[in-house]
Amino acid sequence: MNDKEVEKLILAERKRQREGLELIPSENYVSADVLTALGSEFTNKYSEGYPGKRYYGGQDFTDKVETLAIERAKKLFGSDHANVQPHSGAPANVAVYFAWLEPGDTVMGMRLDHGGHLTHGHPVTTMAKLYKFVRYGIGNLETGEIDYDLMREVALKEKPKILLAGFSGYPRNLDYAKFAKIGNEVGALLMADMAHIAGLIAGKALPNPFDYGFHVMTTTTHKTLRGPRGGMILTKGTPGNPLKAVEKTFDNLPTLIDREVFPGFQGGPHMNNTAAKAVALGEAAKPEFQDYAQQILKNAKKLADEMMSRGFKLVTNGTDNHLIMADVYQSFKVDGREVQDILDKVNLSANCNSIPDDPLPPFRPSGLRLGTPAMTTRGLKEEHMAQIAEWIAQAIKNRNDDKILNKLSIEVKEFSLQFPLPSDKNRCL
Ligand SMILES: *Cc1c(COP(=O)(O)O)cnc(C)c1O
Repeated sequence: MNDKEVEKLILAERKRQREGLELIPSENYVSADVLTALGSEFTNKYSEGYPGKRYYGGQDFTDKVETLAIERAKKLFGSDHANVQPHSGAPANVAVYFAWLEPGDTVMGMRLDHGGHLTHGHPVTTMAKLYKFVRYGIGNLETGEIDYDLMREVALKEKPKILLAGFSGYPRNLDYAKFAKIGNEVGALLMADMAHIAGLIAGKALPNPFDYGFHVMTTTTHKTLRGPRGGMILTKGTPGNPLKAVEKTFDNLPTLIDREVFPGFQGGPHMNNTAAKAVALGEAAKPEFQDYAQQILKNAKKLADEMMSRGFKLVTNGTDNHLIMADVYQSFKVDGREVQDILDKVNLSANCNSIPDDPLPPFRPSGLRLGTPAMTTRGLKEEHMAQIAEWIAQAIKNRNDDKILNKLSIEVKEFSLQFPLPSDKNRCL
């Protein structure tokens, strides 16, 4: 690279990733092919519109690569339509809200302190100013089961236009059949935000909401799906005529969504990103990806057990998916942010998070959120989980002893270097 200043930073970040273990559940390591597509000449091209209906010339290959991404997405998730242009997960959700709602309409989503996402109506978001968000949440904090009776009661009263399933901090599975029953009873659009678990659905390790009658799924492409940073919207139902004003029915939902993404509120799609999405979707369709998805779950269960046996209290006492929420404040009387900082010192990367009914404020919450997608990509198996739990416990216990923290950081580094990043092969820089 000619730009030595930026090159230095890229190499430093790569070194950080190689020498540490990524425990943040929303992060992953992409393949060399995904990086190659991201760094390709497709980044030079403007292609506003959709395949076959673009505004500028020179679209032979952008049309082909976007169509490839669309077809792969449809096949992988069993949808009738896919929009692969959202720049990320948040704009994907916004597009669905804009497509389906009028200002003032109601959306029912998961309580944010029970694992719901910022884009599901956090008061600081613009969406919360436009729409009314009402909530469902966990009924039993020991098992993590959602209170579906209360969900129905609130839905009957509030008549949400969208019933939204999805989370970024909930370690259990949702009962999509129950969502569908309640949603259908009140005539709501059934929307699943699968940002965290799209890779687990693609890898057939977790159920697919479309099999339970959901109308639309949004997702990021960079979490368990292991692609470039980006978003995607998948719908059931075939599009109507995009040039005609259409009524809002489930059948023309794909058209409404396509129009909201472009020209609604995005301009040109990022075609290098679309190409990388196509690559990641191709990788996720391979049989090995199903083994990967299963291994993520096995590793998470084992890590949860190893942590609990070391005195960590976990929210819902375990996990059914890729993530673990530890109540480190209750377990060790140290808040989540402090633990996050301590773990950074020993080359373990995790993030602090609020837990249900958290007695501490959001900036210094009680919880520590961990996940296994990234470490599983590097090849870690159940047999390594005891060691990781031990490092986390040791780091917390010895947080005031720099000598021990330093020793732990070297141990983690030496261990991590035995598991190369998937992109370490075939790199040009
Ligand atoms: C990560 C996430 C998003 C947002 O994705 P960005 O790419 O950060 O915009 C939306 N919904 C859920 C449930 C998520 O976990």
